Amino acid sequence: METLTWRAQSACAGINSDIFYPTSEDESEAREAKAICNACPVETACLEYALTQREREGIWGGTTERERRRILRHRRKSA
Ligand code: SF4
Repeated sequence: METLTWRAQSACAGINSDIFYPTSEDESEAREAKAICNACPVETACLEYALTQREREGIWGGTTERERRRILRHRRKSA
């Protein structure tokens, strides 16, 4: 199993994880989690992990699942 060293520095450690799993695609539901991510020192590492793992649920690295799909599509086109 991969050791996620960046997680030790995450801004979301100890925060109720429910806010990172919005129940709808409504942007307002993601706002609080994204604000935490945007101040997180490991935001980039978290996002790259989520993209690599194809995380389908939740806010990772300040992005929703829909936004991660868009990033992956863009990367495929640029490759
Ligand atoms: S970017 Fe967001 S989800 Fe990722 S570790 Fe930081 S606070 Fe947690």
